[in-house]
Amino acid sequence: MNLQGILFGGWSKDEMMPNLLHLGLDRAIESLRIEYVALDLFGNRLVINKKGTRYKSLCPFHKEKTPSFNIELKYNRYRCYGCHRTGGPLFLPFDYFDKISALSYFQSKIGLDINNEEHKNIFEQALEKEARRAGFNVNFRL
Ligand SMILES: [Zn+2]
Repeated sequence: MNLQGILFGGWSKDEMMPNLLHLGLDRAIESLRIEYVALDLFGNRLVINKKGTRYKSLCPFHKEKTPSFNIELKYNRYRCYGCHRTGGPLFLPFDYFDKISALSYFQSKIGLDINNEEHKNIFEQALEKEARRAGFNVNFRL
């Protein structure tokens, strides 16, 4: 492993969050990848190794000794086989933080403006779509 690899716990620099603010909300949401958000939230604190298109790590949501938390690049989602939490890049911050912190996270990362009705609709719909893809239903209102 090179120095970059050691610094980022096996993550490559390409997997770090690019600046998405200039894209506009729609495209910023489309460009959001689970690896960006996971690396942003957990960093090298948790991720221990990469196998093919997935990272395996100790779960940030429950205590365990054997890693069962997967970050699946191919499906753009996270999934824990221990506590069964799953979702995509939009849902992860809501799973990890409280709602206010998650919203301010997206404000700073993708320019979400919760006082803007159009932004709210775009974001709510994207979150619901992502949840359905991950296999669960959310009826999410900001
Ligand atoms: Zn877990």
